[in-house]
Amino acid sequence: MSTISAHRPAWLTDARLASLRRWVKNGNLGTLTALAPYDALPTAGVPACSPDDVDAAATSARAAQPQWAALSYEARAAVVLRFHDLLVERQDEVLDLIQWEVGKARLHAWQEVLLLGTVARHYARHGRSYLKDRLVRPAVPVVTRVTEVRVPKGVVGIISPWNYPLYLGVADLIPALLAGNTVVSKADQQTPLTLLWARARMAEAGLPEDVWQVVAGDGPSIGAAVIDAADYLCFTGSTATGRIVAERAARRLIGVSLELGGKNPLIVRADADLDLAARGTVEAAFANSGQMCIHIERVIVHRKVYEAFTEALLAATSAQRLGQGLGYGYDVGPLVSRAQLDKVSAHVRDAVAKGATVLAGGRARPDIGPYAYQPTVLDGVTGDMDLCLGETFGPVVALHRVDGDDAAIAAANLGRQGLSASIFTADTAAAEAMARRIRSGAVNVNDGAGLAIATVEAPMGGRGESGLGRRHGAEGIRRFTDAQTVAVSRLGPLGPPPGRPVESFVAFGNKQLKLLRRLGIR
Ligand code: NAD
Repeated sequence: MSTISAHRPAWLTDARLASLRRWVKNGNLGTLTALAPYDALPTAGVPACSPDDVDAAATSARAAQPQWAALSYEARAAVVLRFHDLLVERQDEVLDLIQWEVGKARLHAWQEVLLLGTVARHYARHGRSYLKDRLVRPAVPVVTRVTEVRVPKGVVGIISPWNYPLYLGVADLIPALLAGNTVVSKADQQTPLTLLWARARMAEAGLPEDVWQVVAGDGPSIGAAVIDAADYLCFTGSTATGRIVAERAARRLIGVSLELGGKNPLIVRADADLDLAARGTVEAAFANSGQMCIHIERVIVHRKVYEAFTEALLAATSAQRLGQGLGYGYDVGPLVSRAQLDKVSAHVRDAVAKGATVLAGGRARPDIGPYAYQPTVLDGVTGDMDLCLGETFGPVVALHRVDGDDAAIAAANLGRQGLSASIFTADTAAAEAMARRIRSGAVNVNDGAGLAIATVEAPMGGRGESGLGRRHGAEGIRRFTDAQTVAVSRLGPLGPPPGRPVESFVAFGNKQLKLLRRLGIR
């Protein structure tokens, strides 16, 4: 048996590998090894960290933070802008690494570059306006001045999953850094090389060594150590782990943002363009082989157009090209791991055993690769099946029939998660009204999943069990700061002046209340 996956990118020489591995902080606990999805053979291992290594990383990040925060916003932004240019210029390297570690089609790897590049330039150029000081109407006009300012949290911990290792690993880092924090990131066990590549490019862009530290290791010990060391924790991953993370952070009373899982619905109204709806469903259901938090797993179709839509969907599904290997040339890559393949297969098996019908796919494709799974469309899915409301995180959609908008909204709101939803219709005004009744962090109209998240000025996050907090937009950077109120009195303490009766001070205060009311100021 070969000791390393045959799909190792040609440019990733031993010397280049060493130049990536050096960015793991300390890493005194042996080697962390993952298997490449294309051939189930090891990718290049990286040093594994111990909890003490995480402590050391947080200590040096803490020491570096005041100096980093003392730089002007523009100076920090200049680093991010240079990183953006390196990312775009050298994207082929990171696309290779993402494909090697995750197995996704290259188009979906490139979408990470596109999204991260957009986030980088947006926050570098506009982030400052989200953080600017705000003069507040003071308690006592004229003689006092009150300003709301934003101060960095300190050391931000970031834990992110394997499915979008570049975008999820770095798009939260950028606003955290720009707000004046230093960061300790835990690389996911499956995808450390992608994150280390980004760390190396940040260094080239001028980011000081201690300002962003990367640690590598498993979730329960190294992830936990990051939570125990950080002043704020930014987590992306499953709802189950999000709960554990929130409980641990609560013990230390640190803030968290939680970007968690979904069971996202797409509604097809009777007036929809069915070819567009089918195309949107395929893109949103099978991108990254369905291993995308905002991807569509439930399609809720008006009864009148059910047959015609199903026909269009099956045609679009059968046109998807399965494949694997570095490079463009196929639409759907394999699942990331044996565990993902087993989970997806078990969900489909359970549904079929309980009466669901497979309209397309429904099986693994070992002829293509060890973890390949055919894009799958199911009919007749009912509430007793595991995949009905449980996240499958694979290329599987279930079709449901409904009689109208109210029933569609009720079906969309089933379950406890609420990350992303979609509506296909000719009546966009009706869809905008429906959107407000759907419990979901984002609703796309006539787009499957990408439009809301690609609009990085708008907040992105989950409702219900899909998470707390938002990335992107104003909230996406403000969460990495504390609001601080700075109140300045030009007359000294506000209380009753010495030597005067309290009663006259109270009478003066009462007059002021009435005056402010009369003038409509309060
Ligand atoms: P996961 O929760 O198993 O792991 C996510 C990360 O948390 C990993 O790096 C893991 O090492 C770490 N971790 C595991 N246990 C931990 C613990 N006890 N303490 C601290 N860290 C721990 O998720 P996964 O299966 O790797 O990723 C897929 C999930 O992520 C899906 O549910 C998907 O919907 C979700 N996701 C959400 C978003 C979003 O933006 N809402 C984006 C991508 C993925």
